[in-house]
Amino acid sequence: MEKIWNEIKGIIRIAIRIIVETVHRLVINIFDTLFGFFNWPEKKLRVGILILQDPQVNPVVSPAELDTAIEYAKSSFKKNFNTRLLPYKTNQQFTEVLQKKAPYEVLYTKGSIGALWEEFTITGSFFASNLCGSFYPVTAFVVLDIDHAAGCSLGPLTDYVTLDPDGAKNASTLAHEIAHACGLWHLQSKSNLLWRTSDRGDEVKWWQKNIFRSSRHVTYW
Ligand SMILES: [Zn+2]
Repeated sequence: MEKIWNEIKGIIRIAIRIIVETVHRLVINIFDTLFGFFNWPEKKLRVGILILQDPQVNPVVSPAELDTAIEYAKSSFKKNFNTRLLPYKTNQQFTEVLQKKAPYEVLYTKGSIGALWEEFTITGSFFASNLCGSFYPVTAFVVLDIDHAAGCSLGPLTDYVTLDPDGAKNASTLAHEIAHACGLWHLQSKSNLLWRTSDRGDEVKWWQKNIFRSSRHVTYW
């Protein structure tokens, strides 16, 4: 019964997000959908980073180990998208350790298409019930391991991304995964922020600005 309920909740969550995202891109943020390459005016993107604890109740990384990634995302988003990265709660830290015990399926998640199936299981339900907020902020969960990846995002279908300890300590992976959450996909250009592996640069193309800035996560307020 719980299995079916997790599947139903996953379908409802994704359906609502497709509707909310479409309304933002075609109505609320239509100016950026068309003219985002102007990078005007400055927009805001709120992020919370929740570090999970391993079965021995130790955080999988220390909050300070994310400082490099946060600074990288701040400067990359300001430079490329004129978007200010802010903690989801005013005057608070970006990073905190989630005190709630995470099940095994959440600590060891799957990358790429496997992550989509996990949306319809206990894993998706856990992430959904521990978000920093619905629709607008992006929550980054730091898990123990992601199969064949250092980070993962289901794009606009969810309000969260995942990082493993390697991804959390790497400079550009957090920015890359948040960019996925804001609708961007991989590009075959090593100098681009959307290059698949961590030897990427942080350049973006003009049309990537339109897509990023018209995301529901990127707000005027
Ligand atoms: Zn990627």
